[in-house]
This record gives sequence, structure tokens and C-alpha cells, in this order.
Amino acid sequence: MFETRLTKLLGIRYPIVQGGMQWVSRAELAGAVSEAGGLGILSALTFPTPEELAAEIERMRAVTDKPFGVNLTLLPTMRPANIEGYIDTIIGEGVKIVETAGRSPEPYMERLKAANIKVIHKCTAVRFAKTAERIGCDAVSIDGFECAGHPGEEDVTSLILIPLTADAVKIPVIASGGFGDARGFVAALALGAEGVNMGTRFVATEEAPVHPKVKEWFLRASERDTMLVQRSLKNTGRVLRNPIAEKVAEMESRGAKLEDLAPLISGLRGKRLLETGELDYGLQSCGQVVGLIHDIPTVREVIDRIVKGAEEIIERLYGMARV
Ligand code: NAD
Repeated sequence: MFETRLTKLLGIRYPIVQGGMQWVSRAELAGAVSEAGGLGILSALTFPTPEELAAEIERMRAVTDKPFGVNLTLLPTMRPANIEGYIDTIIGEGVKIVETAGRSPEPYMERLKAANIKVIHKCTAVRFAKTAERIGCDAVSIDGFECAGHPGEEDVTSLILIPLTADAVKIPVIASGGFGDARGFVAALALGAEGVNMGTRFVATEEAPVHPKVKEWFLRASERDTMLVQRSLKNTGRVLRNPIAEKVAEMESRGAKLEDLAPLISGLRGKRLLETGELDYGLQSCGQVVGLIHDIPTVREVIDRIVKGAEEIIERLYGMARV
């Protein structure tokens, strides 16, 4: 056990949450995380229709009887997203934890809370975390500039955002962006968080349902191999550097519009990259923590290592304070 208010709120053994990652957060990965004592999360938009999400929730239940969540990303999308339909499925299937991201979940809170669902809102600024608390979210996940995917537009790192958020809200804070090992986990707790959210670390695991070449790419990549795209759209994304990402950044610097960028940034390209291992085919979200990833263990090994390593670090720190 590693008890915090987050583990008690969600009924999980360890305060380690697996990020909602488009195309990646499927039952294979999320089920393994929940089984290993963390919180596995399915990504709703990975499944084109609410019916397909319902089928994935059933697959998830075949893998684990432990708590799990569903991520509902409220960012703009190329293909229309039937958010109300996904919420119907979430409620109908009896899902008890939802992670929202991208925009305030306020329009959906009444339905989610009426169904007794715990809502974790993932956001990128202290003021958004305060809003999440005010509208009734049960926990907030704060995403620092290091993170994979969408870090927001203000470039404030986790080291600053986490303590500021912990000071600003009373609900449990989950540290997200830059976490992948025991050192980061203990640091997050020291900064006032009550758990961590990890995406990139879980992509480089045996269970992650992505092509082996993608996992090997993550192993080769250093902390200097990510870059930002889509800033001109006010929808910045952190991705691994590849020719498509360089091309998108170059087009943006020349004033390209969404319609010019759309064929390159489309998530369907990213989906093919993940499925076939064609690493230059699309954009691949990835956090700076990739520089700390040197192997492809099982999900359980990742979690066990963090928990055991954290105990050792805390002992060592305690020893320092006792002298
Ligand atoms: P998609 O094919 O719908 O869109 C590709 C990219 O273009 C996404 O980043 C999207 O946000 C952006 N986009 C689309 N319409 C836009 C608009 N009108 N203005 C500005 N930006 C626009 O994306 P997808 O890969 O199918 O993913 C579906 C959703 O999940 C997207 O909203 C995406 O951003 C989000 N996502 C989030 C993360 C994360 O950080 N957790 C990672 C991957 C995808």
C-alpha cells in the first residue's frame, strides 16, 4: 500500500494513474495498470463510437475487477466527437471514475455527479484547477510543461505548478508531466501532490498496444528529442521530433492555417504510426521524461519499481533529517 487521499478516493493500492492517451489507452494497457494496483484509464475518443467504447469497457472488465477510469478529452477534434453519447456509455456501463481534459467539464458535471462518478480534471494552470474544484471535481491532475501531448500555452513546469496548485485547492492533486520513476514520484509527493499521472513511461512497457518500433524509438530518444507543434493554433502539443513534426513547425512559422496543417497533424496519421511502426508517418505525443526511459518492462515492474524505490528514497531522506 502507499496511502494518500487519492488512493482512498479511488480505491486503488498505489497513487499512480496511467494517462489517457489517444490510440494507446486501451484495455491491454489500462487493465494491466489497474491489475498492478494503479489506476488504468481508457481513452474514450480512441473508440470512434460510444458503442465501441462500451465494448472496450467490457474487455476491460474481462481483464480486471479493480477500479479503472475513462478519459474524456474535450479539446477540438477533426472528427466530430459525440461527448454526450460517450457519457451515456460511461454512465450506462457503470464506470465510476472519469478523467476529463482539455476544457472545463462543467457542462457535463451534473450528469456525471448524479451517476456518482468521481471526476478527475486534468488541466495546465492553477486557475483551471481552482475552477475544477469549484464546479465539483473530486481531484485535479496538473500537467506541467514537460508533459506529452497538450501542455497548454503558458510553459510553466511541474516543479512550479504542482506546489502552487496544492496551495490553491483542497481536493487531491495529481502531478502530471515529467514523471516516470521513483525519484519523480517522491518529488511529486514532496511538492504536495497525492499521486502521479504517467503516460510516456507506460508507452514503453510490454503491454502497451503499440508497434515495437515505437517502444524502441522511446528508448533511443533523449530528453532533447521532443518538440512543440500546433502553438500557432493555440493548441500546443509536445511530440517526438521527426520529419512530420519539423515540417509542421516550419509551416507554422510561415503562417500556415489549420486547414493546411490538418493533413499532417491528423490523429489518423498518428494512429497508423502506432500500429505499423512507420515512425515518420505522423505526430507522436511524448514527454521530456522519455530521456529517463531505458527499458521496456512490464507495467507491474514499472509500478513495483516506483513503489519500492520510493520507500528506499524516503528512508534515505528520513535518515538525512535525523542526524
Ligand atoms: P484529431 O485528428 O481530431 O486532431 C489532430 C490535432 O489537431 C489534435 O491535436 C487536435 O486537438 C487538433 N485540432 C483539431 N481541430 C482543431 C481546431 N479546430 N483548432 C485547433 N486544433 C485542432 O486528433 P486525435 O489524434 O484523433 O485526438 C483526439 C483528441 O484527443 C484531440 O483533441 C487531441 O488533441 C486529443 N489528444 C490528447 C492527448 C493528450 O495530451 N492527452 C494526446 C493525444 C490526443
